[in-house]
Amino acid sequence: MLLGRQGAGKGTQAARLAEVFGIQHLSTGKIFRDSADARVPAGLAAKEYMDRGELVPDDVVVAVVEERFANPVEVEHGFILDGFPRTLRQAHELDRILGHHALDVVVNLEVPVEVVVERMLARGRDDDTEEVIRRRLDLYEEETLPLIDFYRRRGLLVTVDGLGTEEEVEARLLAAIDSRFDPVPVDAR
Ligand code: AMP
Repeated sequence: MLLGRQGAGKGTQAARLAEVFGIQHLSTGKIFRDSADARVPAGLAAKEYMDRGELVPDDVVVAVVEERFANPVEVEHGFILDGFPRTLRQAHELDRILGHHALDVVVNLEVPVEVVVERMLARGRDDDTEEVIRRRLDLYEEETLPLIDFYRRRGLLVTVDGLGTEEEVEARLLAAIDSRFDPVPVDAR
């Protein structure tokens, strides 16, 4: 799971990691954008929230994720979650959806507020106006930041510095992920 402010580079890095590990990249934001582009009514309804910088209601988001995970192949081959969960309620729902498939690692991709604002203004997505960006950042502090503690308490959290080139950040992510899977050294057994 990748946690971090919008504009921290989660989407870019999740796509790279999905490629490296050969697993699914699940971005709820992308699912909503794609279904809005395809003029699917649920996607168009989600877009109204997105364009205002609001969170799409938990029930809607959870239903989308649940549908994807109804296919056991998605879960069993592994996956990267990008942009989900964003609220504590979604995190609890995710536990329910995953059942005995525990998460391996939660990465907190850290980039200062000033930098993410600049990055978002530069990427120029429909929902990237300054006012909407501010609203999303406020909601991140209120709704999503508590997840950092939630996963830290479970011993799943690693924090990675998201500043630098895509390659630099990817290398840090791979090292952080590796560190979670290192076998116990022989003399520490
Ligand atoms: P993202 O592509 O992750 O930046 O998401 C774009 C927008 O989609 C967000 O600003 C929200 O409006 C909506 N969205 C994506 N994922 C979620 C989520 N897990 N919970 C609520 N809203 C979401």
